Amino acid sequence: MAELLRDTRVEINLDRIAYNMTQLGSLCGSKVALMPVIKANGYGHGAVNIAPTLLENGAVYLAVATLTEALELKKANSDWPIFIMGHTPDRLLHHVVEKEITQTVFSLRQAQILSDLASALGRKAKVHIKVDTGFHRLGKTPSHEYADEICEINSLPGIEIEGIFSHLALAGEAEDEEQFRSFMGFVSELEARGCSFRYRHLADSIACVDYPDYRLDMIRPGAIIYGMVGYSKGDLQVKQAISFKTAISQLHRLSPGEGVSYDYLWKAQRDSIVATLPFGYADGYPRNMRDKGYVIINGIKAPLIGVICMDQCIADVTDVPDVCEGMEAVIYGDGSDGSMTIAEAAQLAGTNKNDIISRITARPPRVYIK
Ligand SMILES: *Cc1c(COP(=O)(O)O)cnc(C)c1O
Repeated sequence: MAELLRDTRVEINLDRIAYNMTQLGSLCGSKVALMPVIKANGYGHGAVNIAPTLLENGAVYLAVATLTEALELKKANSDWPIFIMGHTPDRLLHHVVEKEITQTVFSLRQAQILSDLASALGRKAKVHIKVDTGFHRLGKTPSHEYADEICEINSLPGIEIEGIFSHLALAGEAEDEEQFRSFMGFVSELEARGCSFRYRHLADSIACVDYPDYRLDMIRPGAIIYGMVGYSKGDLQVKQAISFKTAISQLHRLSPGEGVSYDYLWKAQRDSIVATLPFGYADGYPRNMRDKGYVIINGIKAPLIGVICMDQCIADVTDVPDVCEGMEAVIYGDGSDGSMTIAEAAQLAGTNKNDIISRITARPPRVYIK
């Protein structure tokens, strides 16, 4: 294993990612293709390093948001099947064709560019059509004009329409149902006009568990692959794969009245021992965790005190038995040791779980355990 150049590191349990994939596979059955979403560096887990585990455990495609993410994966292994869910500007579409990446498309103009580029190489560019069923983010609203456009795309010599998809706003059961109906109605219209789609897909992590009918031919699970539970109606056992750890860099003994960190926003009320920890908001730890965050040191909850700095923060370790410099501190864990789970971090920081994990920056090294 490569030398670990920092005490602050992100540990990824690949067995848990495999477990989550297997669980999802048995829930959805063999007719539903799995396209795990590994945008944002695999939600902080390291896209290139988790890709083999996903492909070995049933992934048909790996989905990313951007061309840069797709190219990073193709550079690691040009055989990996990659799907870009986002928009790629016209001037960059040649990369998609050259690297045989499957692209989301919602205009004849882009399809034509792809078709020309692919034809010149004697290939067909694979695309999935994006339909806007209400989210108003990407894709066009179902209409006869859009159907005409899709039929034209379908007739381009250098294009293979492999799929069609939409995305739910998850605004409520009635709204979700309306989006689903709109999508299915449009797909039927297109099929009646001679289009065919190998993969019709709509469901993200929450929808694929809560709405079995919406799984269709393929699902796009992100959060759930990493063990983040967001569904409310269905049931699926998954395990958090990520943990975040560091070690104490220095201890200080403070007398009552002495402060710590910028602005002395925390002051000792008693004779205290405080520990400097070498992680901060530039590692992706939420700065607003001040007065809320804690780490687990030697089995004890040590609250973070004072302002969280860019590279360091300070914990009150007065009550930690045998505390010493170099002792491990668990920033995020699976909770079994009392550590803060990603779910709890999200709640304390006033955001969602995907934000907490995807914001962990590239600075802390990733360590993969099996
Ligand atoms: C991010 C994303 C997903 C995955 O979302 P999760 O909630 O993490 O499962 C699926 N589809 C699209 C279009 C996305 O952008």
